[in-house]
Amino acid sequence: MARNYQSRKRILVTGGAGFLGSHLIDRLLDRGDEVLCVDNFFTGSKRNIEHLHDNPRFELMRHDVCFPLYVEVDEIYNLACPASPVHYQYDPVQTTKTSVIGAINMLGLAKRLKCKIFQASTSEVYGDPHVHPQKEDYWGNVNPIGIRSCYDEGKRCAETLFFDYHRQMALDVKVARIFNTYGPRMHPADGRVVSNFIMQALRNEPITLYGDGLQTRSFCYRDDLIEGFLKLMDTPPAFTGPVNIGNPNEFTIRELADLVIEMTGSRSALEFRPLPQDDPMQRQPDISVARAELAWEPRVQLREGLKRTIQYFKDI
Ligand code: NAD
Ligand code: UDP
Ligand code: UDP
Repeated sequence: MARNYQSRKRILVTGGAGFLGSHLIDRLLDRGDEVLCVDNFFTGSKRNIEHLHDNPRFELMRHDVCFPLYVEVDEIYNLACPASPVHYQYDPVQTTKTSVIGAINMLGLAKRLKCKIFQASTSEVYGDPHVHPQKEDYWGNVNPIGIRSCYDEGKRCAETLFFDYHRQMALDVKVARIFNTYGPRMHPADGRVVSNFIMQALRNEPITLYGDGLQTRSFCYRDDLIEGFLKLMDTPPAFTGPVNIGNPNEFTIRELADLVIEMTGSRSALEFRPLPQDDPMQRQPDISVARAELAWEPRVQLREGLKRTIQYFKDI
């Protein structure tokens, strides 16, 4: 347990310079906590956290979670891992290492400190799902040897580690399965669908639709998601998750493209490209566990969230 004169909580956020991590840090600082941000800047950017440099309760450490980390904190949020297919497939071996070895190191740290630890897991643990919408008790349909496996299986193994540390060492774990999330501070060249479509639309370039665009995703606005993280972390030790956190409103990728074109007033045309291997055909969270256990549900729907995100991309 870290002690300081104000007896504030000291919270470690790995992957804190990324899209979601930097927002989580903003929220933690806003409520008065101290934050240690650990990041190797693989996909994260200093710009996401530069507004915090003068905050005496914020500390930044360049570090790769694949290496042991000896620090003193009261809680851990483990978010370190590239999330966009383009980035996690760039160095797939490193992606698996980050998920698996990173989880072992952060769990070892939590074990030594006897502190609560949160894991940013993913809807990808369901793979290309045969059960729709996805509930937490669905075991998934994941290819173990495909191009998405480094991420999917890495995250699945991380969940295994979290639950074994929970059973074996009585560690207080909180596992969130995050569904596609978007919002300001996504990197414009991140490669994920929302940032791609908005950037293409704003530049009047072709909108790249992979496959026929009839595959679906359910998009959650980042503020809703972070609210869900904080609520999950506040649950009693008996509640470990896994819990789906996402917005159940499901759209085809084609519908998303049309909406972005309409909202930006773009002259972009649709350009069809081959569907990447193992691209899931449908995805929608069943959030009844989150509703019951966290009293959480998303508030910001796609049109409103896109409005704010489009404005962000216009501003940069
Ligand atoms: P992001 O790429 O913006 O952030 C990931 C951060 O982790 C980056 O700052 C990156 O530099 C850092 N990182 C990567 N490897 C690291 C390592 N070995 N050591 C230290 N830092 C490292 O992605 P994001 O969207 O903010 O995702 C954050 C977490 O949420 C990830 O674990 C991701 O798998 C999970 N997630 C996100 C989504 C989503 O839709 N955004 C969906 C499901 C799960
Ligand atoms: N670890 C760490 N920080 C700590 C404690 C442990 O990074 O404060 C790492 C350590 O390098 C180890 C891993 O976490 O490899 C798992 O720790 P654990 O105690 O569970 O396993 P052990 O050290 O017994 O292999
Ligand atoms: N996609 C697309 N065009 C793009 C980027 C993505 O059609 O420029 C599709 C992709 O094939 C997938 C969906 O949009 O079906 C979501 O892709 P993303 O990479 O954002 O996340 P995923 O849910 O696949 O991890």
